[in-house]
Amino acid sequence: MARIDLDHIRHAYGPRPTSAKDYALKEVHHEWNDGGAYALLGPSGCGKTTLLNIISGLVQPSEGRILFDGVDVTHLPTEKRNIAQVFQFPVIYDTMTVYDNLAFPLRNRHVPAAEIDRRVRDILEMIDLSHWADRKARGLTADQKQKISLGRGLVRNDVSAILFDEPLTVIDPHMKWVLRSQLKKLHRQFGFTMVYVTHDQTEALTFADKVVVMYDGEIVQIGTPAELFERPSHTFVGYFIGSPGMNVLPARVDGSQVTIGDQVLGLDHAPDIGSAAKVELGIRPEFVRLGREGMPVEIAKVEDIGRQKIVRARFAGQPLAIVVPEDGEIPTDARVRFDPAAISIYADSWRVGKEA
Ligand code: ATP
Repeated sequence: MARIDLDHIRHAYGPRPTSAKDYALKEVHHEWNDGGAYALLGPSGCGKTTLLNIISGLVQPSEGRILFDGVDVTHLPTEKRNIAQVFQFPVIYDTMTVYDNLAFPLRNRHVPAAEIDRRVRDILEMIDLSHWADRKARGLTADQKQKISLGRGLVRNDVSAILFDEPLTVIDPHMKWVLRSQLKKLHRQFGFTMVYVTHDQTEALTFADKVVVMYDGEIVQIGTPAELFERPSHTFVGYFIGSPGMNVLPARVDGSQVTIGDQVLGLDHAPDIGSAAKVELGIRPEFVRLGREGMPVEIAKVEDIGRQKIVRARFAGQPLAIVVPEDGEIPTDARVRFDPAAISIYADSWRVGKEA
């Protein structure tokens, strides 16, 4: 397995890019640890596949270098990079048996037969296809075929990295959960470097140790699920992670005082907003306390979602979501307090403050 260095990478599909908007991938400069499980998470078109394809060698970056364990592989073709890839749709040999599909990459590399058998049987068990080992792949369902693709990605233990591009799209919802947990277990067991592209936050948060959130051709934060939840670096992360997402309210900051509409809050520090054109306060719905004390709100709607209620309110002229426990009281003259430790201040969409 390998450490992956993305060294000042930028990519434009068109010739002669002149401004930032011409780049599908704006500057990406990061080091990903050997043995890390990374999920690239973001909405459609934000550049996830472009970045994955740059790592695999399917796309050559317009600028910058990519290194595996310190070795520059920028100009090496995919087959020389020693990586395994699993795509959105199955890529398998229909005329081979399930067993042979998995054994193929190992036989190609002259792995001893006993070792092949051991690894193939382990993987068959993991993907729950042991009983299908001798069947031709042709007759299988789409999700069984995709499980073979996944298995083929995992069967080698000599790869630098395993890259997954939305691999669970064709898998049925229950099996998705099972496979995700198995991938995670396998990662703990073997310590593969894994990069997993998805636009589904549950998939990213359950699979990865580190989630790489992308937005509009940029990496806006790399963090553990807890970091993304507690300290979103960018308003997009706040909005994209969590359900409902973070409340982002237009604000004015003066020293340690924040004004939202006609309401004024005191902070325990004075955030440095520089000369930002846009200042916002972010607070997750889980950290808004609803009660009889604090700042006034108007309640518009209460959604009961089982163990919690989501209260949709208006605060200082802005929409505000509040998460209340199932048995939480919703007073008629409701007021709110924001948990001071959970407040983030954003200057031109980027978090500023004590440990921004
Ligand atoms: P999705 O989840 O829809 O696959 P993504 O986050 O993987 O999206 P990319 O496929 O990397 O995003 O696309 C990033 C941007 O680059 C988009 O604006 C897309 O239209 C553009 N793009 C992607 N592939 C090409 C291509 N081959 N030629 C030109 N533009 C492309």
